[in-house]
Amino acid sequence: MKWQVMPFKSSANMDGDNNVAVDDLQYLGRRSLIRMIYACTGLTLGVFCALQFMAGNYLFASIELIFCVALLWGVWGIVRARNLLPWIYLYLLPTFSFMLYIIVIPNASKTAFVWVYIIPVMSYLLLGRKRGSMLALPFVLAACLLYLNTYPVRLDAEGLIDLGNALLCGVLLMVFVHLYEARRAFAYKQLQLMARTDALTGVANRGSFQQSLEQSVREAQRSQAKLVLVILDVDHFKRVNDQYGHAAGDQALQHICNSLSQRLRNTDTLGRLGGEEFGLLLRNTGHSAAEPLVEMLREQIASKPLTYGDKQIVLTVTFGMAEWPSDGQTAEQLYHCADQRLYRGKAQGRNQLVGRAMPSVRLSEF
Ligand code: GH3
Ligand code: MG
Ligand code: MG
Repeated sequence: MKWQVMPFKSSANMDGDNNVAVDDLQYLGRRSLIRMIYACTGLTLGVFCALQFMAGNYLFASIELIFCVALLWGVWGIVRARNLLPWIYLYLLPTFSFMLYIIVIPNASKTAFVWVYIIPVMSYLLLGRKRGSMLALPFVLAACLLYLNTYPVRLDAEGLIDLGNALLCGVLLMVFVHLYEARRAFAYKQLQLMARTDALTGVANRGSFQQSLEQSVREAQRSQAKLVLVILDVDHFKRVNDQYGHAAGDQALQHICNSLSQRLRNTDTLGRLGGEEFGLLLRNTGHSAAEPLVEMLREQIASKPLTYGDKQIVLTVTFGMAEWPSDGQTAEQLYHCADQRLYRGKAQGRNQLVGRAMPSVRLSEF
């Protein structure tokens, strides 16, 4: 099988750490959202600037023009930003502060506080549950205090009903936004897991394994620690399907993955590359340590048949192994080397590990 190295997204996610591409889904959504908010606010301020200019309020018109230009520049800047957080806070903090300010300015409309309801919505949408609640709560509390200070509560029934409406609506909004975001984050995590996992066996799928391999090669290049890639293919698997049925074949794949997973360390990665072919990444490990481990895995699979109903299905696996950096410098070279050795193992009779180059033939042997 040809190893095609998919483009690996190395852009930092919200928190600044490098993570796999599936995380960028959420990140992309937030990026376009904050860009849209910058653009809408910038254009709105542009309209107000023109109105103020026509009304002869040149000071306000100039201030609005400055903010309009800054926001529209932000729309362009956000596209290339590695970390979105500064851009989000740069927008939310002044905007929320302005919402508090319009509650207390003299002659302000008594309904100016309704803008406060937008604070949790924007915070959660742009920052997620944790950061969103940490930003929204103090602003909402401050808004309540400022409002009560500016418009003291009338202690008659009408006054208490007004207060109750405003508070209850605010509290419910916070609760709903919080619950919604919690459920959305959970669903997203599940989706993330599904996108990385092979549905039949529960191990990493091909895309996820490929990313792990590329990441591990980069880490090995930095730390100069060894790394071993093993590719394994079930022997005569077609016969298992033909003889016992497809369901038995599926169980056989699960059985092999269970056997392999039981003996691996937390730092090792097992992935399904396709069909009945799997990959094994052994980090901080060289040839000499990997060989006995893989031999043990091979023996274990061969000696523990799958019990399928009243039948015992004997399974064997052939392994090809390559070590970084001696057998390949890149993920692609490593894969190619391990793949070649796997097929040499098949040609040599299957149920074996081929871990090293073919012994070179010395002329003195003739
Ligand atoms: P070799 O020892 O040379 O690898 O022979 P093989 O029979 O294992 O290889 P071959 O490529 O001829 O057949 C692989 C079979 O694996 C064919 C395909 O139907 C079966 N297969 C691929 N994916 C699945 C799966 O998810 N479940 C089941 N049950 N069978 C699968
Ligand atoms: Mg096979
Ligand atoms: Mg195969």
